[in-house]
Amino acid sequence: MASPVLNKVRERLFFLSPTVQAGWEPESKREDFEELKILGQGAFGVVKKVTHKKNNIIYAIKIVEKAMLKKTNMVEQMQNEVKIMYSLNHPYILKLYNHFEDDINVYLILEFVGGGQLYAVLWKQPQKKFDEKTSAKFILQSCLALENIHSKNIVHRDIKPENLLLDEKQDIKLADFGWSNFLKPNEIRQTFCGTLDYLAPEMLEKSRQHDHSVDIWAMGVLCFELLTGLSPFAPQININNQTFVEKTTKDNIINLRFQFPPLAQDFIKKILVKEPGKRFTCQQIKEF
Ligand code: ATP
Ligand code: MG
Repeated sequence: MASPVLNKVRERLFFLSPTVQAGWEPESKREDFEELKILGQGAFGVVKKVTHKKNNIIYAIKIVEKAMLKKTNMVEQMQNEVKIMYSLNHPYILKLYNHFEDDINVYLILEFVGGGQLYAVLWKQPQKKFDEKTSAKFILQSCLALENIHSKNIVHRDIKPENLLLDEKQDIKLADFGWSNFLKPNEIRQTFCGTLDYLAPEMLEKSRQHDHSVDIWAMGVLCFELLTGLSPFAPQININNQTFVEKTTKDNIINLRFQFPPLAQDFIKKILVKEPGKRFTCQQIKEF
């Protein structure tokens, strides 16, 4: 095995990518890529569309500042994200091809997808919602992606339309494994993600453990949102021209307080179930 050719890095935070570790290629550098445009700006970094200067292949590169990772104690979390993404290979899951670091940043070389966020596409619809057939397609594809990660004991924990990307064929690519983890039964984490809307009740009640069924719960919220353009547990929503002013989102989730949308009631009833063990499984969602 050839020995790896590495960038000179003062303080290395990450393990080597599999292809570098194996000595198949030198560690990549930022200069290997031509940066075309910004695709997205996350809490921890920026995602850009790039081409590889040697072969002109288009990728998305996620650039995250190492100082920021250290300051927020997120190094291990991001190492996790990278390990998890390398372990996955599925048509509806965004692929990670490579990663590398220099003194300033860590870089993830991702499959580029051109259809944007499901969220953005939803908001571009004339009525800010999808029809039943389109919604069902997105739910089924997301569910196949979930079934795959759950079979590897991975929970995503941040399923929401911002993290579901679309390719040119309008097929789902599950992205952003920044909150995902291999299942450790006793670990309960308090998440500080921006929106509460997709959190399962057991994640809000700190004393309770959570497992892969938190992703299933999010499928119920997603289904509601795709069909109505609304989030079921928002403090105030308007369905069929009736406005319901409710308590806080958190309170609504914990007390399972929401109005059913006109469509897919039977389906949502089986998923937005407070008791995690009684929710539909991926298999049941597929068969529904
Ligand atoms: P946040 O913490 O805010 O969720 P993040 O830093 O974890 O963001 P991602 O969610 O992975 O970053 O990506 C941010 C955005 O960049 C995505 O929502 C999407 O719009 C865009 N993006 C990410 N990866 C790709 C990709 N492979 N192809 C095209 N666009 C992408
Ligand atoms: Mg994201």
